[in-house]
Amino acid sequence: MFVFGHAGITIGMAMIADALTSRQRANVTPAATDNHGDRRSRAGWRGFLPIREWMDYRLLLVASLLPDIIDKPLGQALLRDTFSYGRIHAHTFLFALITGIPGLWLFRTRRRSWLLILAFGSLMHDLEDQMWRWPSVMWWPLKGWAFPREDLNGWFGNMLQALISDPEAFVPELIGIGFLVFAAVRVFHTRRFLYALKTGRLDHPAAQVTR
Ligand SMILES: [Zn+2]
Repeated sequence: MFVFGHAGITIGMAMIADALTSRQRANVTPAATDNHGDRRSRAGWRGFLPIREWMDYRLLLVASLLPDIIDKPLGQALLRDTFSYGRIHAHTFLFALITGIPGLWLFRTRRRSWLLILAFGSLMHDLEDQMWRWPSVMWWPLKGWAFPREDLNGWFGNMLQALISDPEAFVPELIGIGFLVFAAVRVFHTRRFLYALKTGRLDHPAAQVTR
């Protein structure tokens, strides 16, 4: 998957999850929170609801591309002789884990969400890349230390060719563009363009949190 597919589908999934969890949040009884309304003490998954309180869509945009931002320059340019491959360390489940676990800890203890957003975006990227089809990368290093290699000659041209001729390549891009247009229309429609640009939020949250 390429830029618009990753960015649009990840943002779209977050918007859908936000819409669903906001509805769930409305059904959470007052007894589910403590007497002081301190969200840090909310038990289990309820501490993450609603997503709009902590989601920064600007950061999510970067996170949705993070594995490629790290791996493509490294594996295809800087360390091309070593790897000759564009999906290496940042495309592994281990990468999502070593960002996700401290991300969860930071969120639960300090209510800071930036690392959790990076982990979420990276995990979504791996799923969109269907990394389970490359188990030696997805589960690295459980299946050995070496990454696959590929002939990178003409990879950019091949990518452009796939984008105009291969439905498996261009359909996700069209879906991603659809989600991005939907998000843009929503922001402009509610006249919150500057607000979204400044805060990374698409909606006004019920409470302010620190990122
Ligand atoms: Zn990728």
